[in-house]
Amino acid sequence: MKKIAVGIIGGGISGLAAGHFLRSRLGERLDLTIFEKDNRLGGTVGTTRKDGYLADWGPNGFLDREPLTLEFIREIGLSDKLYPSNKLSEKRFICRNNKLWEISANPIKFMKSGLLSPAGRARIAFEYFVPPKRSDGDESIFAFVSRRIGREAAETLIDPMVSGIYGGDAEALSLGACFPTMEQMEREYGGLIRAMIKKQKENRRSRGKIGQAAKKGGPAGPSGHLTSFKGGLFTLVEHLERLLAAHIRKGGEVRTLEKSDKRIVVRTAGGEGAFDHVIIATPSYCAANLLRPLSPQVTDNLAQIPYSNLAVVCQGYRIEDIGRPLDGFGFLVPRSQRLDILGSIWTSVIFPEQAPEGYALFRTMLGGAKNNRVIELGAEKLGELAHQNLARIMSIKAKPSYREVIAWKDAIPQYTLGHRERLARIQAELDRIGGIHLAGNAYTGIGLNDAIKRSHGIAHSIINSVS
Ligand SMILES: Cc1cc2nc3c(=O)[nH]c(=O)nc-3n(C[C@H](O)[C@H](O)[C@H](O)COP(=O)(O)OP(=O)(O)OC[C@H]3O[C@@H](n4cnc5c(N)ncnc54)[C@H](O)[C@@H]3O)c2cc1C
Repeated sequence: MKKIAVGIIGGGISGLAAGHFLRSRLGERLDLTIFEKDNRLGGTVGTTRKDGYLADWGPNGFLDREPLTLEFIREIGLSDKLYPSNKLSEKRFICRNNKLWEISANPIKFMKSGLLSPAGRARIAFEYFVPPKRSDGDESIFAFVSRRIGREAAETLIDPMVSGIYGGDAEALSLGACFPTMEQMEREYGGLIRAMIKKQKENRRSRGKIGQAAKKGGPAGPSGHLTSFKGGLFTLVEHLERLLAAHIRKGGEVRTLEKSDKRIVVRTAGGEGAFDHVIIATPSYCAANLLRPLSPQVTDNLAQIPYSNLAVVCQGYRIEDIGRPLDGFGFLVPRSQRLDILGSIWTSVIFPEQAPEGYALFRTMLGGAKNNRVIELGAEKLGELAHQNLARIMSIKAKPSYREVIAWKDAIPQYTLGHRERLARIQAELDRIGGIHLAGNAYTGIGLNDAIKRSHGIAHSIINSVS
């Protein structure tokens, strides 16, 4: 039996998921090596477990709306460790004028709330009459949203949502690459309200057959429920490490790639190996460096994907020192408010096991595409800035008794205007070279669900090519 040799570069979730999909489907036919440059796996996924707190460094969960992720977790035998978010965390808030306003998912309640001015609210209702865009060209998220529901709603609702998800600038990011469903809603139904009415009718018709409709997405929160694992998100990485241990080379930074005959030669400081397929599951700027000798054109296109920097400040407080109810998911801050923070997630409301009894844990984000340099302030100052803002907005009377600061340089890839065209150019060139695949969150979705889905697609294209 001829073995198929696959090298995976990067031991984050993308690399580990690709390793699992290949191994579980190809079994003995697979000769697998996973190279990870660091001495730990997980990439941006990590959890500090200290003083009764669980502080996630990067992602703190995934949305349970993607069946493939749940199937992946079932396959690896980790379903019993799933930890869904608490019902109490459903409300989300926007901070405006130092006050937290609930963003109600109920359109009537939303229209009655004072979050937007009467003119801003009327402009949203007018969306029904706004004609669809005529040209097919790429459009920024901000341009799309202000065109459809008005500038005030774009600044107050969408700008903070984009900072919360991408650490991004809504004026620079491509609507079609980041939120393809919104683009499609306009294209297919003529507008967002028209699309929602149509979808509601369809749901009502099908509810009898398929049961409860799924939680819908919008400024009041994404569709699906945030879900983690008992012990924090790093539980997933630890489990995958146990399953794939025999194939993993930690401290195995890949320095160069070369094509030799039909195989790809991977070089590390410790030696070299030849593979039929190589999956590069690193951030795109690392992939750009590795691919330079094989295709300067791919390198140029990859180098055009910028990243935003983010700092995550996890702080624990005594609940009795907090002067407002902890009754939601947390809040986001529109840029117009000129605060230092992008928002704060009330982690211990979402996942109560992540703070000791009587204490609350908050994850506050700073930085993002419009304030990339803030991460250079250092842990002490970042912690203090986060605390001062939280103390004012949430009436906190005392200093935190727990603090963990993680400053991420190049945290989140930014799908700027022209992203989809760049991807098409990259793919055409990789098809020409053959045997090299780009996994990770820099291409077709930035979240864990997207990264797992992309790795699944790549693993299956490799499997199909050999069977
Ligand atoms: C602050 C923050 C918050 C986030 N929040 C969420 C969230 O709540 N929900 C969600 O779904 N997603 C979230 N994300 C996104 C999520 O973290 C990513 O989608 C996911 O972790 C990407 O995994 P990856 O394996 O593609 O990349 P990475 O995690 O970046 O892993 C890449 C790996 O490649 C290794 N590597 C690089 N170069 C080489 C080389 N030359 N040789 C060998 N190894 C190499 C790196 O060391 C690293 O381990 C967040 C991200 C950040 C930064």
